[in-house]
Amino acid sequence: MEEAHCNHSPTKSKGCVPDRSLDTVAVRGASLFEPRTGAISTPIYQSSTFRHPGLFESTGFDYSRGINPTRTELEHTLALLEQGRYGLAFSSGMGAISGLIKLYRPGDHLIVSEDLYGGTYRLFNEYYGRYGFSFSWVDTSNFALLQAALRPQTQAIFIETPSNPMMKVTDIGRCAEFIHRQGGQLIVDNTLLSPYFQNPLNLGADLVVHSGTKYLSGHNDTLSGFIVHSNARLEQPLREIQKSEGASLSPFDAWLTLRGIKTLALRMKKCEQNAQRIALWLREHPRVDQVFFTGFEDHPQYALSCSQTRGFGGMISFYVKDPKDVPILLQKVSLILFAESLGGVESLITYPLVQTHNAIPDDMRKAAGINDRLLRLSVGIEDAEDLIGDLAAAFSQCTKERTA
Ligand SMILES: *Cc1c(COP(=O)(O)O)cnc(C)c1O
Repeated sequence: MEEAHCNHSPTKSKGCVPDRSLDTVAVRGASLFEPRTGAISTPIYQSSTFRHPGLFESTGFDYSRGINPTRTELEHTLALLEQGRYGLAFSSGMGAISGLIKLYRPGDHLIVSEDLYGGTYRLFNEYYGRYGFSFSWVDTSNFALLQAALRPQTQAIFIETPSNPMMKVTDIGRCAEFIHRQGGQLIVDNTLLSPYFQNPLNLGADLVVHSGTKYLSGHNDTLSGFIVHSNARLEQPLREIQKSEGASLSPFDAWLTLRGIKTLALRMKKCEQNAQRIALWLREHPRVDQVFFTGFEDHPQYALSCSQTRGFGGMISFYVKDPKDVPILLQKVSLILFAESLGGVESLITYPLVQTHNAIPDDMRKAAGINDRLLRLSVGIEDAEDLIGDLAAAFSQCTKERTA
């Protein structure tokens, strides 16, 4: 099964250094080393401001809200990894998404994946809805539904693929073509696969966003967020937004993210291998009803995943048969930690209904399949057998308490 993926070898980066593979770009970043001193680890330029050599003169760095050398190295690295021309780093994924939406105006309509990160739903619906934006929440993996949601005011489609937590896959190329005919943009939140497994810009997307808090940083130790794109016309407005909003990434958190990215390739491969094993094991478990994992050959969009990604990632969702098992499982796992978030080296288990997707109204959650029997696993890089042992022990507690 590991070798089932059609196109697993990482592509070359199509950014500024076209002949380097993503494995190399991840480790070495955009600059390879710091040219002034030869430092191999990018220095943390912990300075809020920079001295001007003279009137109307600048070193290129003025004030760190707008630009900071540590952040710049990270932004260039992200652009290379996503095969885009420009990268912008924000203090969190939500900071990036909040910045991005300022490209649009009151009256604009956006079509959004219905099964998406709860924080994005809250930001769009509760805040931007108030400022005159309108949104249609659609199962974007179903093209007919997407088409039906189009309005004359539609300016963008915002998708997560695979979606979170139901692991539905949306056809990036087809969405891009569809919205381009209308003159709008396709935005892809690429957090779940990371640029190592999927590069939406190459498939026609206009803007990619990331929560760098997840796989990019990879160690559950920092927040960060990104916008990556290749459109010279959008670069100036986006820079202005980043500078004006003030949600730019701090130098230290930029450094932590750069450091995390160095092992992106190794981590993505190991997370995926572990996830493959655990997904198959869960599927056979008598207390489990259904498992959602894009790497299953009978996943409804398996062929699409093979055609637009280089890997299936490390995320698994599953329904237990009995909702009463949920509190027991969450309490009895010991190696796997009950916490929100994903994409780190440590395996985490999440209860989307009350955690990540709490902000989404009940009827929408129900329609998307987010119910009281759904759990989500972010598989880390521990030993797969240890993780399976931990789940097995927690499930046997459920059996015990049921039969007691
Ligand atoms: C976590 C997450 C976000 C938000 O990112 P933060 O860094 O937590 O602000 C956005 N999208 C997805 C898919 C996420 O998982």
